[in-house]
Amino acid sequence: MSSRINAFGPYLKKIFSAAVYKVNVDAGFTCPNRDGTVGTTGCIYCNNDSFRPSQCRPEASLKDQIRQGISYLSMRYKVGKFLVYFQPFTNTYAPVAELERLYREALAEPSVVGLAIGTRPDCIDREKIALLEALAKDHFILVEYGLQSIYDKSLDYILRGHDYRTFLDALKLTAGRGIHIGAHIIVGIPTETREEMLAMADEISTLPIEFLKIHQLQVIKDTVLAERYADQTFHTFEYEEYLDFLVDFIERLSPNIVLQRLFATAPDEILIAPQWGRTRHQIIRDIEARFEKRNAVQGSKCVCKAE
Ligand code: SF4
Repeated sequence: MSSRINAFGPYLKKIFSAAVYKVNVDAGFTCPNRDGTVGTTGCIYCNNDSFRPSQCRPEASLKDQIRQGISYLSMRYKVGKFLVYFQPFTNTYAPVAELERLYREALAEPSVVGLAIGTRPDCIDREKIALLEALAKDHFILVEYGLQSIYDKSLDYILRGHDYRTFLDALKLTAGRGIHIGAHIIVGIPTETREEMLAMADEISTLPIEFLKIHQLQVIKDTVLAERYADQTFHTFEYEEYLDFLVDFIERLSPNIVLQRLFATAPDEILIAPQWGRTRHQIIRDIEARFEKRNAVQGSKCVCKAE
């Protein structure tokens, strides 16, 4: 991605003086919004097959997944530094001793420079933060909290099982301890107006968030959202509309926030809407072109001062 945005790849390259790739692993976690602790249906859009890369095989041991991932990426991209990405489900949802075993096992691989840990803001506590803080003394530790929306009406609609306050509490617990903080949001939830979605950029820019993933809402087969969509179709982002939305959003976002992802790409076999018919590469190229055409730069319309 061009220098018009603050992108993750160049950020990592700068701090590690080399390209760093993520190795995705499935450590066998579940999720409190599925196992009955918070809910049983899961978030209405959730189908873990849509965001689990094919190399993630929970039946393989963690060590095997990491070594296979490293071997593949080293051969394909000639790179030698890796972040292990604990991705599917809720990767802090286990007793702290179990988390420590898994995280340390990942960090023991010589070419692994750190971890990215995807989780829910209601699955963190002081003990887990203390573990991450200890690991962060010697490694790059990034916790990615699923926020999805700053609006409780939207969190209710997607059956998220936590509110915005819970996310703010998790941030408070995590910030200032050497742990990198990321957030994940979904835009296009039908409870929100375009302006409300854009206002999320203003709000997020005031928070101690260093990294952000932005996804358009996707309707995926075998989800509650797919049932709702079949009952009553609602608007999902059209392609050109999304390109312009993204530029507007990023212009309002703090230039200090590193962008990790700008859109979602579910496999065609399970994607109901929106169907853009573009490859990942084409989408990236078109986003770049839209930034150029509009002479847009991240943060140029940011009204908030980052804390
Ligand atoms: S999206 Fe994440 S938090 Fe929601 S049900 Fe799926 S795994 Fe759980």
